[in-house]
Amino acid sequence: PDQKLCILQDLLMEVVQLMESQAILKNTTIRTQFYDMPLTLCIDPIQIKQVMINLIQNAIEAVGDHEGTVSVSLENDMTNQKAIIQIRDNGIGMTEEELRQILNPFFTTKEDGLGLGLSVSYRIIENHQGTITVCSEKGAGTAFTIVLPIQNSK
Ligand code: ADP
Ligand code: MG
Repeated sequence: PDQKLCILQDLLMEVVQLMESQAILKNTTIRTQFYDMPLTLCIDPIQIKQVMINLIQNAIEAVGDHEGTVSVSLENDMTNQKAIIQIRDNGIGMTEEELRQILNPFFTTKEDGLGLGLSVSYRIIENHQGTITVCSEKGAGTAFTIVLPIQNSK
């Protein structure tokens, strides 16, 4: 379809820059920590950007108006040829009950939420032979982890 070779660091940086103004308005800092050698992936960049925007947007919203931090990190799992992206926030977190429902289309806890961001993101990552997992604690924060295959350089 619309998949092509992309350098993941460049894509992530673009999305972070896009989200920065929104974060600043909420007193939230976005921190980045990226693996320093370029990681090349065969992806649809528009779709993967959409996933990153959804997750960073949720993280910014979860932090609310208290001074929070959203971190976006990228690691290289060389053994398995995978890129590991993590989006972490120290926001409101989720209960077990909420966690069970977040992938359901139209599930939202927000007054003006649509509840589609995560279900769409999940499908996009699945279509890219990747995985998306979540770890959350109510009142403490949330971490989403995305694992995607790295393009073989041979
Ligand atoms: P929406 O953002 O429109 O509510 P999403 O599909 O993006 O829809 O998210 C669904 C629900 O998952 C949110 O309403 C919220 O309850 C929960 N959620 C998602 N990300 C986070 C997060 N980082 N921290 C706390 N709750 C979250
Ligand atoms: Mg959302």
